[in-house]
Amino acid sequence: MPVIVVDPWQRTPPRHPHTVPPVEDLVGTLDAHRAEDTILVCAPGDAARHARMARAVVGRANVGVLVLDPVPTRRWIVEQLLSMLPVDGYRYASSIVDATNAAMRTSVVTTSVAGFTAPRPRLAQHLRSWFPGACFEVDLHAKTVRSSAGASWDLRAMPLVAVAQRGNGRQKVTGVHWPAEPFTLEGPPGESPWPAKSWFEVSALSQTPHQIFEHVRWHAPTVTCSLCHRLTGGAECIFCGVPVYASPAVVAPANPVIEQYGVVNA
Ligand SMILES: [Zn+2]
Repeated sequence: MPVIVVDPWQRTPPRHPHTVPPVEDLVGTLDAHRAEDTILVCAPGDAARHARMARAVVGRANVGVLVLDPVPTRRWIVEQLLSMLPVDGYRYASSIVDATNAAMRTSVVTTSVAGFTAPRPRLAQHLRSWFPGACFEVDLHAKTVRSSAGASWDLRAMPLVAVAQRGNGRQKVTGVHWPAEPFTLEGPPGESPWPAKSWFEVSALSQTPHQIFEHVRWHAPTVTCSLCHRLTGGAECIFCGVPVYASPAVVAPANPVIEQYGVVNA
C-alpha cells in the first residue's frame, strides 16, 4: 500500500469512520512501509495537515505528500487513478492528477448559490436562492451557474462516475442516464463542500484510466529533482517540495511499468 489515501470522504458503505486519521496512526502506517517510497494522497485541510505532520515525525525523505482538489467527487476519482500507480510510476503522480482533472467534468445541482464564489452567480441568482423551490446547476468546467428546475446528463459512456449529496439534492436531478455503476460517496456528518442545505454533486471521467496513463506516459515530461534526485514531474517534487522546471531536453524515457500497468484498466 505505498499510495496511502488520507480522505474522510469515502464510498458507501465506508470502510473507516469519516474522520481524518490521527497523526500517530499515519506514522504507524508509514513505519510499516519504511523501506518503500510512499505517497500520502490527501484531501485539503486537516488531512493534509496530519499527513505533513506524520511525514515530519518519521523524518524520512522517501515520503511524498500530494494534496488534491477540495471537491470530493473529483478528488475520489483522482485517488482511484493514483492508487493504481506502481512505485516505479511515482514520477508521473502530479501529471496524472493534472491529466485526470483535465478529463473530468463536474456539475452540482443545488438549492442555493448564495455563498458560491467560483463560479460566481449573478446577483439575481443570489437573491433567488433565498426563495423556496430554487434550483441551480453549477458547471465547474464551463464555470457557469444556470437557474434550472433540474439537470439532464447522459453519463452512460463515462468510464468512471462518482456522486455525493446532501439533503434531497438528488431528487432535483431528473432525466439522467446513469452508467452501470456510479460510485456514491459520503463525508463526515456536517461537512459540506457547498454552502447549501441541499445539493447533489456528480463528477464523470471522460477517458479510461488506461487512456490517461498512456497520455501521461507520452506527453508528461519528468526531470531529476535537484534535491532528492528522484525523477519527478508537475510544478514541484512531491517528496521535497522543490520547484521543478521540465525541459524537453531532459525528458525521461517512457516508463515500461506504466505501459504494463495500463492494460489492467482497459
Ligand atoms: Zn525531490
